[in-house]
Amino acid sequence: MAGKPLTTLAALPAVHEVLEHPGLAALRATLDHALLVAEIQTRLGAHREALRTGTRRTSPTVEEIITEVTAAVAAWRAPRVQPVINLTGTLLHTNLGRAPLSAEAVQAMVQAAATVNLEYDLDAGKRGDRDTLIEELLCRLTGAEAATVVNNNAAAVYLSLNTLANRKKVTVSRGELVEIGDSFRMPDIIVKSGCRLLEVGTTNRTHLKDYAEALDEGAALLLKVHTSNYRIQGFTKEVPLEKLVELGRKHRVPTVVDLGSGAFVNLARFGLPDEPTVQDTVRAGAEVVTFSGDKLLGGPQAGFIVGRSEWIKRIKRNPMKRALRCDKLRLAALEATLRAYLSPATVAQTLPAYRMIGRSLAEIEGLARAMLPHVERWAGERARVGIVAGESQVGSGSLPEAALPTRLIALTSRAGAADELARELRQLTPPVIGRVHSGAVLLDLRALLEPEPFVAALARAKP
Ligand SMILES: *Cc1c(COP(=O)(O)O)cnc(C)c1O
Repeated sequence: MAGKPLTTLAALPAVHEVLEHPGLAALRATLDHALLVAEIQTRLGAHREALRTGTRRTSPTVEEIITEVTAAVAAWRAPRVQPVINLTGTLLHTNLGRAPLSAEAVQAMVQAAATVNLEYDLDAGKRGDRDTLIEELLCRLTGAEAATVVNNNAAAVYLSLNTLANRKKVTVSRGELVEIGDSFRMPDIIVKSGCRLLEVGTTNRTHLKDYAEALDEGAALLLKVHTSNYRIQGFTKEVPLEKLVELGRKHRVPTVVDLGSGAFVNLARFGLPDEPTVQDTVRAGAEVVTFSGDKLLGGPQAGFIVGRSEWIKRIKRNPMKRALRCDKLRLAALEATLRAYLSPATVAQTLPAYRMIGRSLAEIEGLARAMLPHVERWAGERARVGIVAGESQVGSGSLPEAALPTRLIALTSRAGAADELARELRQLTPPVIGRVHSGAVLLDLRALLEPEPFVAALARAKP
């Protein structure tokens, strides 16, 4: 046999030698036996390969293998879902879990983790309907007749279209064929819902007569999609929702609105563009309105469907509803989040999403000054640290043009190695996520609602 002398390979410890060594007693007592054996085999296999190819000349000791196995197991046993500090300047960051939940929502989830009346009618003492837990509150807040909730807004759109227009034609303006993120494209969702897409108008202009022609061609549903993440400007024309609803009713065809973000409060209050609220959309007559739970609503991931009872009833009877429904933890968090809107004047205190959005520049400036020495101490000689003006974005595809004035801590790397500094910040506990822009790491403080973990992460880092 070619390769290394047999003696070197033969000196490699056997699996049982490693497994039975006292140094592995703690892992032996706690970790699944088969998983532990597999990890030992993986390590030994790597050494066997190294000896065979000559990248290593001497056999490792049992102790060496134990150190490796212990480190490997610790690494894959550590939780992968971990809190991070979002200083990217994108407040509701889709990659960072969108809206942080309110303290009330967190508490509600903890309580719901036990046994709850999820589908149990406490009055009647028999089976109930999980939707009723939040339906009344949703109707009260939105003015809708009925409501249901599913996994996310993509599911809400899918279920609405599949129920109301399966195998039929759905009409959408060419200006509203949105792509959200990289996997949600409106034309794909329409087709996957079993519907046929009937595009009308042009990218920049769609008229009422375009929709009327589509109805003459047999369209069974008028769909209006909020262009959440882009704007069409200039020579444009879009049909007001009231007019579309009126046209649909004449033909007995429902108008469904995918609102995307679905704000309950007027955003002009926070210096943001005035988006149509869910209430406005219901009032305008839309038969069905869908929106997300974790965008401008500030709750957990969910998709709401609100509107006229006759349509909501049919949507709830769709067998796919079962596949897309929410669990008790989410319903509890949603209920707590929705309850905050009973006092809309105080959402900037009660919901973290609006605490970030509604923060004054003076408060952010004060926070930046307070954080500066901590960042300076961490950076040491590696970067010049200062406070600069900038703009935060709402994020999650909401309000693409809206910018909220903010203050950032900028780390300008003397070595021009901003990417490396940003990486080191991501390796802190908890990880701090900034952004790199023209040779500097920028840390936007608008989203830093609790400074302590940030200060602690910087302080814990080895100099
Ligand atoms: C965000 C968005 C969606 C998808 O919502 P999810 O809750 O992320 O599934 C659908 N339509 C519009 C217009 C959106 O903005």
